[in-house]
Amino acid sequence: MKEKILTGIKPTGSLQLGNYIAVLKNLKALQDRGECYIFIADLHALTLPIEPEVLRQNSIDIAAFYLACGLDPDKSTLFLQSSVSAHAEANAIFQNYLYMGELSRMTQFKDKSAKMKESAIGLGLFAYPVLMAGDIVLYDADIVPVGDDQKQHVELTRDLVNRFNNRYGEVLKMPKPEINKVGKRIMSLSDPTVKMSKSDPKGDIFLKDDLKVIRKKIMSAVTDLGCEVKYDPENKPGISNLLVIYASMKDISIEEAEAHFVGKRYGEFKGEVADAVCDVIGKLQERYQHIIETKAYEEALKKGAIKANKVASETLKRIKKAVGLLTLE
Ligand code: AMP
Repeated sequence: MKEKILTGIKPTGSLQLGNYIAVLKNLKALQDRGECYIFIADLHALTLPIEPEVLRQNSIDIAAFYLACGLDPDKSTLFLQSSVSAHAEANAIFQNYLYMGELSRMTQFKDKSAKMKESAIGLGLFAYPVLMAGDIVLYDADIVPVGDDQKQHVELTRDLVNRFNNRYGEVLKMPKPEINKVGKRIMSLSDPTVKMSKSDPKGDIFLKDDLKVIRKKIMSAVTDLGCEVKYDPENKPGISNLLVIYASMKDISIEEAEAHFVGKRYGEFKGEVADAVCDVIGKLQERYQHIIETKAYEEALKKGAIKANKVASETLKRIKKAVGLLTLE
């Protein structure tokens, strides 16, 4: 039996290099390794305010970038979360098996809600991991490749699976998060103490940025006072982040990247990081552009929705039956 692999990206903003390194870059290898379910987490994107047109455009972009990275719709299932209604139904059931205390301890909820008035925090933001647990178990996922920031949510899914199976028997498959050794948390170029997200135009490298802009952002990335190119996240967070980015673009280890830059100055180092990123992203942009022009993502998403609905509705039936909901054929 092939492993089942599930991963997704929220269409909340322009895709950035952290998304590329955590998910997109590995798609081809994942596809050769197991049965892949790759989705666009558009329902999750509604957990914070977003303009409808922006959400639509971002969703298309993610689909196009997935394809540009080598996702083959004949081998993998590519779909929009919102086109599989089982996600919303699973959410309605699982919200009864995850608790307020554990949800309020989620780092991502704490970070995202910290600057919001309590009266403006949507229930969806709070219950984000409930929806995510459904995403994962509906496809009987064994492996969930994510960045470091999503590990806690996958762990909570594991708690839910334990709780549910203890109560009802072996109904849900136990998933495991899988996190890259190199690049599990790409940091902002303007402030290497915070992670690169989709919201900081100076510190984020967006996959759609002009290559000249990418180069400029890297050349002006925050470094430190020393002059040695060394991996030391505690004392040299900026340099370490750039080393991780370089290693990731070149598919080499951090040690190999360090060895490559021995004796080189920061300026030269940054120039090579910029070359490496521009080389990868430049080629990706060409493929993305072609997919946007031919609208190849439309067929892929339609096809994926049919397969995803089939798989998810079977699992949902199993879940409904387990909890005592009547499933009349
Ligand atoms: P999101 O953009 O939050 O939907 O995340 C999509 C995927 O990218 C998830 O697996 C995240 O963990 C991953 N990710 C997002 N930002 C970063 C980052 N700065 N470094 C590494 N992984 C990231």
